[in-house]
Amino acid sequence: MADCQYLDGCPVFARFKQEGLKNIWIRHYCQGWKQEECARLKLRNQGEKVPDNLLPNGELLGK
Ligand code: SF4
Repeated sequence: MADCQYLDGCPVFARFKQEGLKNIWIRHYCQGWKQEECARLKLRNQGEKVPDNLLPNGELLGK
């Protein structure tokens, strides 16, 4: 699967302190089979505002 077109600069990833954890999300969603399920991508495609701390699984980082 092709990488998500928003991967460069997707703002949620600037919020991660642990590189390893960040890369797991990227591998599964942004570069992987779960990309179509990404909550960020869905909102964006609907023209909605996407909170910076929204994780691909729909949870909010830091909550
Ligand atoms: S988190 Fe979602 S919108 Fe951001 S790059 Fe990954 S798949 Fe794309």
